[in-house]
Amino acid sequence: METSRTPERPDLRSLSLAELEELMASLGERAYRARQIYRWLHRRYATSVEEMTDLPKGLRERLAETTTIEVLRLDHEARSVDGTIKFRWETRDGRYIESVYMPEAKRKTLCVSSQVGCAMGCGFCATGTMGLARHLSVGEIVAQVHQVNRYLIEQGLGEGPRPLTNLVFMGMGEPLHNFESVKSALDILLSEDGPNFSQRQITVSTAGLVPMIERFGRETPVKLAVSLNATTDEVRDRIMPVNRRWKIAELLEACRRFPMKQGRRIVFEYVLFDGLNDTDEDLERLARLVRQVPAKVNLIQYNRNEGLPYEPSSEQRVREFAEGLLQRGVQAMVRKNRGRDILAACGQLAAQGGPGRRPARGVQTGRLLRVLG
Ligand code: SF4
Repeated sequence: METSRTPERPDLRSLSLAELEELMASLGERAYRARQIYRWLHRRYATSVEEMTDLPKGLRERLAETTTIEVLRLDHEARSVDGTIKFRWETRDGRYIESVYMPEAKRKTLCVSSQVGCAMGCGFCATGTMGLARHLSVGEIVAQVHQVNRYLIEQGLGEGPRPLTNLVFMGMGEPLHNFESVKSALDILLSEDGPNFSQRQITVSTAGLVPMIERFGRETPVKLAVSLNATTDEVRDRIMPVNRRWKIAELLEACRRFPMKQGRRIVFEYVLFDGLNDTDEDLERLARLVRQVPAKVNLIQYNRNEGLPYEPSSEQRVREFAEGLLQRGVQAMVRKNRGRDILAACGQLAAQGGPGRRPARGVQTGRLLRVLG
């Protein structure tokens, strides 16, 4: 696996404000130019230095010669009747990743990818069957957000300067496996000189990389979600191989140690599979497990994936689980499966051609799409 792609020239979109200031100093420019460039990149979503019209021409020329701006090529978009839009992007090295836009009343959420493919190998997720090709760079992560904001404004689907209200890191990849780039991307996305998302508007979801959970809580201020999906190690070992390394008890212990901000809860995502994790005993165990930490549970009916041997629980069973959890004192919500008609849901990433390679015509990419409250 390549760990990440190293661009030939520094990518301006990947640099922090401090790094841009260093770059300006190295070019003999005043420090305030860095903030000007940062705002062009992250508030006005510029994709070329030519757009930065208040920079001196000489500086623009030098930047154009010596740096680059990470841009994703929109390869395919699919719109659902429910307003969901799935974007398939091609990276500069010919890989394919996805972001999914989900509008719901005033909330406009983008589901963001953090890697090309994924090393976690969850059995119900087609991305997991592909393996990991590489991590995404900081620029490639923020580009998904900036380019969708720009798209929504241009299409008249949202008003500027930032139509997106919420971000969830639940696209392709395990965000905590690409922690450094995800953290730097979060710094940009939260920046007052950038898109200025609030901490509560961003959720990062992990399959359970236990050693990274506490560090994530110490070093970033955003919300945490944990993809749980089973109540016994026996079942979780089978559907989420990460559990063979860190058992449910260790995962919950890491959640207990998580430096939780006041008033927050960890969201546990629980995808319901018929006969696998939706028995009455599962309900009892799930309530017992999540009561160990300030938590809420998002229940999601599995979205059938061709070629994978899992079946969704019935809608009634999903509702019974929600009611059962509430009766046991656990906050629980049923989350809608979005964009079913465009296959914008769980694990529908094309496995053809290897990790992140172009899917066959008509096959849509996408991963576990879990919308959080
Ligand atoms: S569900 Fe998430 S963590 Fe698991 S394989 Fe798919 S993308 Fe990776």
